[in-house]
Amino acid sequence: MKKVLVLEDEANIRSFVVINLKRAGYEAIEAETGEEALNQLKRNPDIKVALLDIMLPDMDGFEVCRRIRAGDNHIGIIMLTARTQEMDKVTGLMTGADDYVTKPFSPAELTARIDALYRRTGGAEAVDTGEISQPPFLLNTRNRTLEKNGQRVKLTQVEYSIMKLFMDNPGKALSREEILDSVWGRDYFGELKIVDVNIRRLRIKIEDDPTNPTFITTVWGYGYKWGF
Ligand code: CA
Repeated sequence: MKKVLVLEDEANIRSFVVINLKRAGYEAIEAETGEEALNQLKRNPDIKVALLDIMLPDMDGFEVCRRIRAGDNHIGIIMLTARTQEMDKVTGLMTGADDYVTKPFSPAELTARIDALYRRTGGAEAVDTGEISQPPFLLNTRNRTLEKNGQRVKLTQVEYSIMKLFMDNPGKALSREEILDSVWGRDYFGELKIVDVNIRRLRIKIEDDPTNPTFITTVWGYGYKWGF
């Protein structure tokens, strides 16, 4: 059974999410506090996707996200955000989350997001062998890892997928829509902004100077280019 962690302190929202996950064929592992969520993840290492509420009694969801990411770059993380939370703040704080869903959300929207993330985080593996070498970068498509100058760069699964897309298309300007379709899937409901959020984070990890990027360059009004 495909397991999803649901961290939400409000019982009615949690049970709404759990019922809909079950309907979509997932097993929901529930947690009411950040501490409980971290314990559940230890007990259930096969959880591939986590839904994290932000306002929680013991710590905020971003802190939970940071702690999960400190030990695991493979799990998919979706933040559940309230409409009242300012989006810029949310995206700025999205240290390591793959996606966010704004409350109130429809069951269809939520499960579509989870399905998409689940596919990326380990469902169907593409038939890949070997490596893509574009010095100083080396992408290992078997282990889904990236090295820069021989040093491992820790990437989330989404960041890896973006790197793979770039390295498969050197020198080609990719529109944000193209990146969204390729990495998040055509059935993705979300906003284009998620592309920019992930690119910003990727630049911090791979650029020599993230404020003056030379590998991932911006194509104004269009998208991004892997600038070799
Ligand atoms: Ca809450």
